[in-house]
Amino acid sequence: MKKLYGVIGDPVAHSMSPVMHNDLFELYSIDATYVAFHVKPDDLEDAVKGFKAIGLSGLSVTVPHKQSIMSFLDEIDPLAQAIGAVNTVVNENGRLVGYNTDGSGYLEGIKKEVPSFADKEILLIGAGGAARGIYFTLAQAGLKNIDIANRTTPKADYLVENCPYPRNSQVLNLEEAEEQLAKYDLIVQTTSIGMHPDVESSPISVENLRPTALVSDIIYSPLETKIMREAKRKGARTQNGIPMFAYQGALQFEKWTGIFPDIERMQSVCLKQLGGKKC
Ligand code: NAP
Repeated sequence: MKKLYGVIGDPVAHSMSPVMHNDLFELYSIDATYVAFHVKPDDLEDAVKGFKAIGLSGLSVTVPHKQSIMSFLDEIDPLAQAIGAVNTVVNENGRLVGYNTDGSGYLEGIKKEVPSFADKEILLIGAGGAARGIYFTLAQAGLKNIDIANRTTPKADYLVENCPYPRNSQVLNLEEAEEQLAKYDLIVQTTSIGMHPDVESSPISVENLRPTALVSDIIYSPLETKIMREAKRKGARTQNGIPMFAYQGALQFEKWTGIFPDIERMQSVCLKQLGGKKC
């Protein structure tokens, strides 16, 4: 019987996931289909019960359901539990199990650019949902020096105080981050500042950036944000949010099917949907 997968969110119409996952099902000759389900917050519990009743095989979970879905699942993986958010659900013999592949997707996507993280100085800008997944995953992976800068510093304090994995972290406001920028090898931009249509904004000035640094922005629309453009002008390398998006999807696909898919192809499919030039 054909297997059914999907993404739930509100809104969800612009999700790139259906095209990306359906392309993979076709590529690997898997008899399955992936659908976008628009689920309002008040309908989430009923929707999850319905998915379980019809034997849905797996789900991607996007805003605003990543936290709230946790109470309706049968089991939560320890990293997702620590992060406090689920972006992937796997139907394991009738039990719905929640995972988080956002942070590990980020980590896999950056590995090509930074093969060895040992003793790297990392600055995470932002303390929202995406930052939390990335921060906890980097700490779980053994990275030690990860500072966090955020407009609202108590939110960054909260992440530092609640992360169960050992590391050294300093909390900065955005002005302090600008002043101390020369210290960092990797800057991970996780705020929504610079995202379409606010393309002329940047969370910090990169005046003090080291030319040897890498600025990684998890935004993928636009493909090049203002902070990336300015970092390039300082001679630094940059990466946009496509690798993270493709890898979080690849890790989901692997959990559902046991196959780690063709990541280059996934990135191409995403770029094509975004009108990027690589395709
Ligand atoms: P979120 O939980 O709402 O967090 C938003 C973050 O942006 C917070 O740190 C917030 O600071 C900061 N921020 C918002 N407006 C600001 C302003 N005017 N000035 C300064 N800081 C501001 O959002 P999220 O889910 O983490 O998503 C953040 C971004 O990541 C979005 O652009 C999203 O598209 C992108 N993302 C990409 C991927 C991927 O796969 N590439 C995955 C997930 C998310 P405060 O705490 O001070 O409010």
